[in-house]
Amino acid sequence: MVGEKGPCVFCEIVEGRSPAYRIYENDRSVAILDIQPFTRGHTLVLSRRHVGFWHELEADESASLFEAAREVARRIMRSLRPDFVCMYARGRRIPHTHIFLVPSLGGDVLDRFFNALEGFQEAPDRLAELKQPATMEETARLLQARG
Ligand SMILES: [Zn+2]
Repeated sequence: MVGEKGPCVFCEIVEGRSPAYRIYENDRSVAILDIQPFTRGHTLVLSRRHVGFWHELEADESASLFEAAREVARRIMRSLRPDFVCMYARGRRIPHTHIFLVPSLGGDVLDRFFNALEGFQEAPDRLAELKQPATMEETARLLQARG
């Protein structure tokens, strides 16, 4: 597909007009190594058809994409032995459906990202508690006290 910014980079790869480290394909999906990996084995699973977002795929295309992702994740687990393979889909940078498969080990960038996200999810309760009158009064008393 040709958009405002020229040909779609993933369509070019699917059609074989651009090089890529292709590691798996099936009838409706192609898996390639991400050329800017977070970790070793970071893979993108692309739909063969140009579709902006994964939720716009036809049912058989989404089944194919998920099956390709599962197969590649098993290969990653067998070959690279991470703790697990994280899967997500976004689509802001390149609007052609692709699933990220990122092998993850404790302490790596993805692990730290999700730990930060979980901390953020849990934060509102702690922050709300800080605003409670009893907590505010206790904090004020602590700071008013002379050492
Ligand atoms: Zn495309």
